[in-house]
Amino acid sequence: MNTLVRVRRVYTDTSGYYSTSKKFLTKVNYTVYFHNKPSGFQIWGNHYCLAPASLSLGNQSNTGYSYDIDQQSPAWFWATVNNATSIYSHVLCPSLGIYRAPTNLRIAIFNFPNTDWNGSAPMLRHWRCASCEYNTYQSFFIYLGTGGLLFFDRTVPDIILFNNSDSTHRIYATVFHELSHASHSVLVNGDYWFHFCMAAVLNNSTGTYGTPNGDFCGYIGVGEMWGFFSEIVFYNENMKNVWHRPNDTSDYREITTCDTTKYWFKPGILRKITGPDKQYISFDSIYRSLNATSISEFKNNMKNRVSSQNAHAIDSIFARHEL
Ligand SMILES: [Zn+2]
Repeated sequence: MNTLVRVRRVYTDTSGYYSTSKKFLTKVNYTVYFHNKPSGFQIWGNHYCLAPASLSLGNQSNTGYSYDIDQQSPAWFWATVNNATSIYSHVLCPSLGIYRAPTNLRIAIFNFPNTDWNGSAPMLRHWRCASCEYNTYQSFFIYLGTGGLLFFDRTVPDIILFNNSDSTHRIYATVFHELSHASHSVLVNGDYWFHFCMAAVLNNSTGTYGTPNGDFCGYIGVGEMWGFFSEIVFYNENMKNVWHRPNDTSDYREITTCDTTKYWFKPGILRKITGPDKQYISFDSIYRSLNATSISEFKNNMKNRVSSQNAHAIDSIFARHEL
């Protein structure tokens, strides 16, 4: 017996609606895949790198089927990450004047509900320019030639997230934090990003972010100062305008802080040089100063982008906080 299977793939719009002109005679087997067409990003979940995360909805009506991905759904975390990533790329980055994360981003989500670690942005597929002073596994794939590089491209993620929260707000803030690292990676070369990631590995014994004098910790200082600061700007200050229900702000609440006492790189300092009250430098100018391997170089880059009066103010604020 021959069975004819008709497959049709359509993308939902930004509100989650879909349509197709194709007609089906019998019930349709529906599956939702987490692949974003405009940016090309994929969420890796239940199939890891073999296919985008997917949720099978079974055989349903041939005239259409509607399914709400609520918090009980196994796809809820993927959908929340999907929405936050889409808003980051298509709303926040253009409105704040910074580069989006690279296209075709691969976001791997792992189910580790008890970990305190929310995620990381190794951007492994963007290490191609990295020097081979370390015996990295990428060098191994380069050694294997084109096939090895293709394998590398298809199997390693750019962003890693852990499914350890049932708070939409917390997940959005985490996604924005990690994607701000991805936007940083667009501004610098593969060598830079390699050192940023190596710093995290080499200083693991002295805490998640190392110490000011650890190997390559300048990269951590610059990258995480930006990460925690931009998380605040993206989430606390800009989500009010783009939250799913713009007329209902009750769903929105500030969930994250950025002060000058937390972490050795004191991300709150950036809040003090640009914010609702003080504008010594714009947000996008801070972003464009990130090609720095130490906090002092980062500060000098920022000072070079503003008037001498504002440069003096930036100097004073860094000095006041002993950084
Ligand atoms: Zn970070």
